Amino acid sequence: MEVASTQLRPLEAPRRVTVLGSTGSIGCNTVDLIERNPEAFEIEALTAHQNVALLADQARRLGPRLAVIADESRYGDLKEALAGTGIGVAAGQDALVEAADRPADWVMAAIVGAAGLAPTLAAVRRGASIALANKETLVCAGALMVAEIARHGATLLPVDSEHNAIFQVLETRHLEAVERIVLTASGGPFRDLSRKAMAGVTPDQAVAHPNWDMGAKISVDSATMMNKGLELIEAHHLFGLPEPQIEILVHPQSVVHSMVSYIDGSVLAQLGQPDMRTPIAYALAWPARMAAPVGRLDLAAIGQLTFEAPDPDRFPALRLARQALCAGGSAPTVLNAANEIAVQGFLSGRNGFLNIAEIVERVLEAIPAAALNSLDDVQQVDREARSLACRLSNGG
Ligand code: NAD
Ligand code: MG
Repeated sequence: MEVASTQLRPLEAPRRVTVLGSTGSIGCNTVDLIERNPEAFEIEALTAHQNVALLADQARRLGPRLAVIADESRYGDLKEALAGTGIGVAAGQDALVEAADRPADWVMAAIVGAAGLAPTLAAVRRGASIALANKETLVCAGALMVAEIARHGATLLPVDSEHNAIFQVLETRHLEAVERIVLTASGGPFRDLSRKAMAGVTPDQAVAHPNWDMGAKISVDSATMMNKGLELIEAHHLFGLPEPQIEILVHPQSVVHSMVSYIDGSVLAQLGQPDMRTPIAYALAWPARMAAPVGRLDLAAIGQLTFEAPDPDRFPALRLARQALCAGGSAPTVLNAANEIAVQGFLSGRNGFLNIAEIVERVLEAIPAAALNSLDDVQQVDREARSLACRLSNGG
């Protein structure tokens, strides 16, 4: 698919932006960059799940027209916290969609999980430019999203560091000359751990990523390498390549963020420090570039960059994601939903670390891949997979 067209206003005219999930790791990094360039941006809306204090603080600093808290029980707290500011306040799922629907030129989709699907789709359907961090949206509803993006002339700007790297080095005028893309993976905190040792790891160990500072869910996904599996499916939808042309390569230093390999033997890569403010800045300023306060790459100080093939036995999530992508239809929706539940189960002590991939595999086996024709179809399969995964997570 065509990932991006050129319809954004240049940065000199303030770009009107909305940040969905402004209180998370990606959201806070986005807010940080916006605050460093106050004349370049106007804020339409900010949204969060439950963290009223941080959302209210961000809203007071940035002055959006609307602040939305997804958890309706916190509406009163947010209203009180923003009293007298003139900032509109709303709560609940419909309000999230309304926030995405408001006339911002640029929307950061940084909600975690399939919860981001409905608001992201609302932004797509009004033809906005969407900086996509929320990879689960493309995994659970990829074909639908791609069709709606084309239908409404929306623009997707990949924020995931690997996809942003590919976006930067993909020669769109020579797409037929692309042989394959290579997604790099840090290997996560358990890169060298045996399966036996993995059986006993705790949530704290899983969330302590060696290179990146991220939210809890994606940190656990990195530890199981399901994150790379989700990114494989994300890359398929973003760049239109079939599964065999997407390779995964473990690169513990997280300096080479991904690569594109061409038929003449050339390999183009994007490098940088592992700091999400680089890909976010690229998306915020696109098609221009803006300064980002990230550390500069000092290759002499780093000395060595290493690469290794991923181990399919210790990281079965990679195989499951490849299988789901090949099966197509509802299989990636099932994979994503079961994984979200199994990761929550691990974080809250209901199931162990190795059970995550086991639960995903059992749910994939139990729910045959079917065609998905609408958002309703996606949501129905998503619910079915979650309910089965919940039973398995509780030992059922
Ligand atoms: P996070 O947990 O730090 O933040 C998630 C944000 O979404 C928060 O603002 C939270 O309030 C909001 N949210 C959570 N559940 C919600 C719900 N049910 N309804 C509405 N809002 C909800 O997560 P993160 O690390 O910032 O990741 C966000 C997305 O970006 C994920 O899809 C992740 O895979 C992707 N991503 C993150 C990174 C990273 O470095 N953190 C890198 C690449 C991609
Ligand atoms: Mg990534």
